[in-house]
Amino acid sequence: MQGETKNIIQEESAKRTLDVLVVGSGPAGLSAAVYAKRASMSVKVVEKMYMGTGQVAESGRVDNYLGLPGMNGYEMGEVFRSHAQEFDVPFLEGEVCRFEKSRDCDCWIVKLSNGEVQKARAIIYAAGAKHRHLGVPGEEEFGGRGVSYCAVCDGAFYRGKSVVVAGGGDTALDDALYLSELCEKVYLVHRRDKFRGAAATLEKLRQKENVEIITSAVIKEILGDKRVQSVALADGRCLAVSGIFIAVGMIPETECVKEIVALDESGYIVADETGRTNKDGFFAAGDVRTKQLRQVITAVSDGANAAISAAEYLRNK
Ligand SMILES: Cc1cc2nc3c(=O)[nH]c(=O)nc-3n(C[C@H](O)[C@H](O)[C@H](O)COP(=O)(O)OP(=O)(O)OC[C@H]3O[C@@H](n4cnc5c(N)ncnc54)[C@H](O)[C@@H]3O)c2cc1C
Repeated sequence: MQGETKNIIQEESAKRTLDVLVVGSGPAGLSAAVYAKRASMSVKVVEKMYMGTGQVAESGRVDNYLGLPGMNGYEMGEVFRSHAQEFDVPFLEGEVCRFEKSRDCDCWIVKLSNGEVQKARAIIYAAGAKHRHLGVPGEEEFGGRGVSYCAVCDGAFYRGKSVVVAGGGDTALDDALYLSELCEKVYLVHRRDKFRGAAATLEKLRQKENVEIITSAVIKEILGDKRVQSVALADGRCLAVSGIFIAVGMIPETECVKEIVALDESGYIVADETGRTNKDGFFAAGDVRTKQLRQVITAVSDGANAAISAAEYLRNK
């Protein structure tokens, strides 16, 4: 190829290379996009769900996001997305399935499952996580009407009521302890005879008069009318409760990055609040990274931090 032609092709390619590609338009991704735009970076957001705004859309009522108490989760997601649209952030519908680092353009080549390819000098990966489900009858039907996956989010709605917490790990034990301060009665139901969660928390639960620990018990069905009214166990017992908190684990959306960035033993991307991973130019934000509290407010904060880290990375290159 003639030198001049090659240079033109390289220049054209550089023009098409974004500064930042954000994966996921949940709270973390949208916040990252707003911060990236305001830092004068060229940015695009790829989202696999049509007009998706992440898990927050599944919440009937978000009561713990500062300044917006009692907001419907779907509306909150729409508000976040329209904020990004006001800054002219372009959105692309598609599922990212592969990342490759190219030496030619010193950028990431990002492949989508529909065959499209995007190029970006930095990636902000904000693909979130999803709650593992029990898979029993009534679980989907009563979602948001007595079935919850987040005690910190929804616990306050069950003040003075009876609830079940399902699970045996740290989250289940912490949820049961948290709910025991609000609820009249908490049944902690675990399918095994031993708990995986911290022994100290379990001991605290044993001291609580309003907590009943039920081990070696399998949840068979969640029953109710308009809302949850009881939880049936496989051994025939039926617990009269207004709600069930399912804490049987989360599945981080890291399948397509597991070969390129370091993950912890639970599959989350190892990154601190700067969003930096073990790969240059690849940042993680929101529920998908290692962190203590997976909430809207921490996801939004992560997005901002990751965008500023990406800007600093590009400046120093
Ligand atoms: C039912 C429910 C109720 C909740 N209630 C509250 C509450 O009251 N208060 C609170 O603070 N938090 C609540 N949360 C938690 C909160 O919603 C999450 O912490 C927050 O949404 C995390 O934001 P995120 O952007 O990191 O990830 P997510 O919200 O999970 O967004 C990730 C996005 O990435 C997209 N994506 C994933 N993989 C790909 C891919 N390969 N390519 C393209 N796109 C991809 C997904 O479709 C999704 O839109 C609740 C969660 C649920 C499920």
